[in-house]
Amino acid sequence: MTDQSATGHIPQPTDARDNDAVDKTVVVEVQDLHKSFGANEVLRGINLKVHESEVITIIGPSGSGKSTLLRCLNLLEQPTSGRIVVFGLDLTGGKIHLPTVRRRVGMVFQSFNLFPHMTVLQNVAEGPRTVLRMPKEDAEKLATDLLAKVGIADKADHRPNQCSGGQQQRVAIARALAMQPQIMLFDEPTSALDPELRAEVLDVMRELAAEGMTMVVVTHEMGFARKVSGRSIFIDEGVIIEQGDPTSMLVNPQTERLKHFLNLIFWEAE
Ligand code: ADP
Ligand code: MG
Repeated sequence: MTDQSATGHIPQPTDARDNDAVDKTVVVEVQDLHKSFGANEVLRGINLKVHESEVITIIGPSGSGKSTLLRCLNLLEQPTSGRIVVFGLDLTGGKIHLPTVRRRVGMVFQSFNLFPHMTVLQNVAEGPRTVLRMPKEDAEKLATDLLAKVGIADKADHRPNQCSGGQQQRVAIARALAMQPQIMLFDEPTSALDPELRAEVLDVMRELAAEGMTMVVVTHEMGFARKVSGRSIFIDEGVIIEQGDPTSMLVNPQTERLKHFLNLIFWEAE
């Protein structure tokens, strides 16, 4: 823990990047985040501010710590050191109520992780019922509305394995939204999908962004990054190497590492 966390003091923005956004509300603040697994230091001093309704995309090579960073933001991983404050909730301040964190910070994974024995509707209604203690009818009404929102109302009574990957991922998004989160984290939400199914998931995410949801998205969908996110962050070996306007970063990468990475992903793309 740093002195800052001991005093609860959050330093004011000190660089030009942050000054652009001083009048916007900072809703997530990550300070000097480190995370090690044994001797393997995966995150090596991440500093990050997310503003209200901001959409940030995170790119970077496999193994660079992108998932670990997202997982620290909802305490699926416990940071080794540093400070994380999410909508006023200090995740690193000692005693913390995990269900509160999980409720406020929604997460969608590459593998959809739906409950296979439940219907699509039950998958979405389960959290509101058990965690938010919503009456059954209310939870099902909410779930029905959310399934309509993500465009799969007609699949409500199906099992996940009767749905395409794109549909399952949209159920997963509806399930996360059912908890009425303050922020949504997406960890490569389209990488397990065939190209023709990716668009339907990205469309739902684009809509969420347009509604003002604060989102942090690990993705190599550069079209999405450019059209939907206001800022991209390039992480390599647990450090933020570059960040800024997604199009500028693509067109005019400042570091050899980002240039190299962009070459790799463009040559890999279908
Ligand atoms: P990315 O999402 O950028 O591909 P990850 O955050 O998943 O990278 O992983 C970064 C590094 O941390 C990798 O070397 C990975 O093996 C290691 N790692 C991730 N999770 C664990 C874990 N639970 N236990 C041990 N090592 C882990
Ligand atoms: Mg990952």
